[in-house]
Amino acid sequence: MVSDQDVLAALQSVPGPDGKTPLPGSGALSGLSIKDGKVYLSIAIDPRQSAALEPMRAAAEAAVKKLAGVANALVSLTSEKQAPPKPSPPKPSPPKPASPKPASPRGIAIPGISNIIAVASGKGGVGKSTTCVNLALGLASLGWRVGVLDADIYGPSIPRLLGLKGKPESEGRSIRPLIAYGVKAMSIGFLVDEEEAMIWRGPMVVSAIQQLLRDVLWGELDCLVVDMPPGTGDAQLSLAQNVPLAGAVIVSTPQDLALVDARRGIAMFRKVAVPVLGIVENMSYFICPHCGGRSAIFAHGGARLEAEKYGVPFLGEVPLDIGIREHSDSGRPVAAVDPDGEGAKIYRAIAAKVKATLEKGRVRAAPKITIE
Ligand code: ADP
Repeated sequence: MVSDQDVLAALQSVPGPDGKTPLPGSGALSGLSIKDGKVYLSIAIDPRQSAALEPMRAAAEAAVKKLAGVANALVSLTSEKQAPPKPSPPKPSPPKPASPKPASPRGIAIPGISNIIAVASGKGGVGKSTTCVNLALGLASLGWRVGVLDADIYGPSIPRLLGLKGKPESEGRSIRPLIAYGVKAMSIGFLVDEEEAMIWRGPMVVSAIQQLLRDVLWGELDCLVVDMPPGTGDAQLSLAQNVPLAGAVIVSTPQDLALVDARRGIAMFRKVAVPVLGIVENMSYFICPHCGGRSAIFAHGGARLEAEKYGVPFLGEVPLDIGIREHSDSGRPVAAVDPDGEGAKIYRAIAAKVKATLEKGRVRAAPKITIE
């Protein structure tokens, strides 16, 4: 059995961020966990140095992998040390321009993936994963090549929502994603034990997700949609800060209490300069399965008002609809299996808004360089 001490001893041969002091004494190690011979290690760095320090990361990973008893090692660079204090709900402020800023230099861009976006919620049970899957399928129906990455350590549900059975296969050092309804999918649930991951601190979650970004054979994607863990704690903040996100979609239900949490989500992404692409109001109104009548069970429209107040786009209202629930929970999401239905149309309209914003942002963010 490999121990923390074995790992630290192996890392003595790897110089830390200053290029001299061995990693264990450099003060940069920010997390270490070992489970079934798998070693997860994170190194906190200045995010501006992420490209320059990639060889250090690779050297650390190689050194740990050489140890007897290590089945796999994953080392990631995080910028936890620069983490801002826990966000507090923002005060209402005059609307700001909502379009995203050019992607900030957080993390290392993933070759082949044009946009990585997060689907987040201030709390669990508001329909974040359902929205994530249907948004991804909506983007695919608009012609984009799409992947879904399930980062919800507290309840990875994307494989179930996409009706995926079986485990991904590895190809050398890489993992092949599963494919459902034309989108590629991978879940943190395949990589780690759910109970183990629940208690991880932020840097460990970031390590695992960075491995899934780096080692999964995503191929060329126009968009990778990440289903975030619900909430605004340490794990969520670390992900928001360390994954190279082009933007975030916040899902909320219309009740006041849910909106308070959604506000925290907006504040969290703003603090780490991730553009909020907009808010989706889920379970916005109820469609009666018998008469088709529409009723506002919760005070409908709260998220739209909230979006206006905070100057972020409002992306759309999704009804509380038994069809959406049944399709979702049986792995047959409406956006894929009932493309002409009301639900699919709503998700497609939301996807179209997200796509348009990302296309605008990208044009400004990354002028194309052609080498002749
Ligand atoms: P979260 O990811 O926020 O925990 P889920 O997407 O897992 O939430 O949704 C929680 C439950 O609510 C699931 O059973 C799902 O099918 C159901 N659900 C989500 N959105 C809707 C909706 N618009 N109408 C009906 N049921 C919904």
